[in-house]
Amino acid sequence: MGPLSPHKPWTQAQGEEESYSLIFYGLRITLRPMSDSPQSEFCVFCAILKGDLPANYVYQDDVVVSIMDINPVTPGHLLVLPREHRPDLVDLSDEIAAQMMNVARRTAAGLRASDENVKGINLYLADGPDAGQEVAHAHVHVIPRYANDGFGLRVHRGEPPAREDLEATARRVAKNL
Ligand SMILES: [Zn+2]
Repeated sequence: MGPLSPHKPWTQAQGEEESYSLIFYGLRITLRPMSDSPQSEFCVFCAILKGDLPANYVYQDDVVVSIMDINPVTPGHLLVLPREHRPDLVDLSDEIAAQMMNVARRTAAGLRASDENVKGINLYLADGPDAGQEVAHAHVHVIPRYANDGFGLRVHRGEPPAREDLEATARRVAKNL
């Protein structure tokens, strides 16, 4: 969650061959290896999906779930994640990616409808550690916005590029779709 989440509720306590312990809000939790996962690494979201860690569910279906973020940047901040362990955006199937966006849209609507103080929504996805992804299990943040909530993204824009440079970039990306 990178710059969005300055607090770290998860801290690694101990790594072993067959199990992995971490401290979760002061409780020592031991995770088991995910034998049914294409990944062998330990993943807190997979632990939640297996029921080894608690979570507050907003929505569930066969493809994705939505849970409350335990370190919300604003009240109501929630996450949408696939049931399948897929670290990277590029590894998501079209079906999973579409359902993540559908559920992000629906939960955004739910946040707006359930709280008149919600004035807007930001969707945020960090893809890769260099982008601030801290849990290697793809997820979308749905962040409700309130008046003067202090949330923001820092950007550093230079001079706008020339139109031909934009076109060259567009062609380069298009050739790799
Ligand atoms: Zn996972």
